Amino acid sequence: MADKEDFYKVLGIERNASDAEIKKKYRSLAMKFHPDRNADNPEAAEAKFKQVKEAYEILSDPKKRAAYDQFGHAGIDPSMGGRPGGFGAEGFSDIFGDVFGDIFGGGRQQRGGGVQRGSDLRYNLEITLEEAVAGTEQKIRIPVLVSCSECSGSGAKKGSSPVICSTCHGHGQVRMQQGFFSVQQTCPTCRGTGKQIKDPCGKCYGQGRVQESKTLSAKIPAGVDTGDRIRLGGEGEAGERGGPAGDLYIEIKVKDHEIFTRDGAHLYCEVPISFVTACLGDEIQVPTLDGKVMLKIPPETQTGKSFRLRGKGVKPVRGGPVGDLLCKVQVETPVNLTKEQRALVQQLGESLTGGGKHHSPQEHTFLDGVKNFFDKLTG
Ligand SMILES: [Zn+2]
Ligand SMILES: [Zn+2]
Repeated sequence: MADKEDFYKVLGIERNASDAEIKKKYRSLAMKFHPDRNADNPEAAEAKFKQVKEAYEILSDPKKRAAYDQFGHAGIDPSMGGRPGGFGAEGFSDIFGDVFGDIFGGGRQQRGGGVQRGSDLRYNLEITLEEAVAGTEQKIRIPVLVSCSECSGSGAKKGSSPVICSTCHGHGQVRMQQGFFSVQQTCPTCRGTGKQIKDPCGKCYGQGRVQESKTLSAKIPAGVDTGDRIRLGGEGEAGERGGPAGDLYIEIKVKDHEIFTRDGAHLYCEVPISFVTACLGDEIQVPTLDGKVMLKIPPETQTGKSFRLRGKGVKPVRGGPVGDLLCKVQVETPVNLTKEQRALVQQLGESLTGGGKHHSPQEHTFLDGVKNFFDKLTG
């Protein structure tokens, strides 16, 4: 998948190209590479043609295009002719970012027949940072309207079937005269379905759907972060009267971790070190998500300094390099000092302020700054 060419490059367009530009470019490239027009090298032309077609199929569909923009080739449903493999889960078609819930929320109307697609559902799933980084499989239980088993979703009593609506004669629409105008309206008797249920099903009361809870297994790919959404196609609510089911969106929330915080691919942690370690340097143990590692603290390390452990962060779900772990050291001032220890520190202090050397360069710089500031104030 990494060696797969960028779809925008394949079509030779900018990332912000409009739908019309995409269509135009596709048409001209499809003509150019059409095997009939490339008799001298039909195989190469056909391969190119397929590539162009694939890129167009993704970029001309706003849903797939957005997934592609966000996740690259990894965002494309493998069954749609994207990359092979996919995330490998049953029912797992693709993974989306935030924007989709709003666009596709609510029941989408299917054209014709008055059959209505079921609503999309959202499920908020909290996972640990470890699960987000490594990927996980979670069983989730959701209440959902499913197609009625008694009537197979038709809404009509077992053994009977819906009959053609007598008001609209199966058209789902009726013409109403309003003054000079004839207006077409959804049939009030059958609500546009074109069918009437004379003898409703006793289990679903003619709705064709019943409320049930179902357990699903959701594969969460490695690298997801809070706000990512995973779509399980067709796992939402059943459509009305045999209409197609909606989708289920699993919205990820990664729980706070006791040691690490995350920002994109990078992980951060704070590591307290003793005053002595900070002065003399040492090797200390620091945690990573795959266990402890040794970190060398050089002599004369200042508090707040960050040490980068390359590749110990997160491998992003959208692809790209693995992040780093940044360990920020906090020098801890010794507490609970005995009389002797205080005397020793005192002795150290005197030794550090004697001699001609600046042992606290930042303090000196700061104090010089303060002095200049007050000098200027007093003229
Ligand atoms: Zn039923
Ligand atoms: Zn009707």
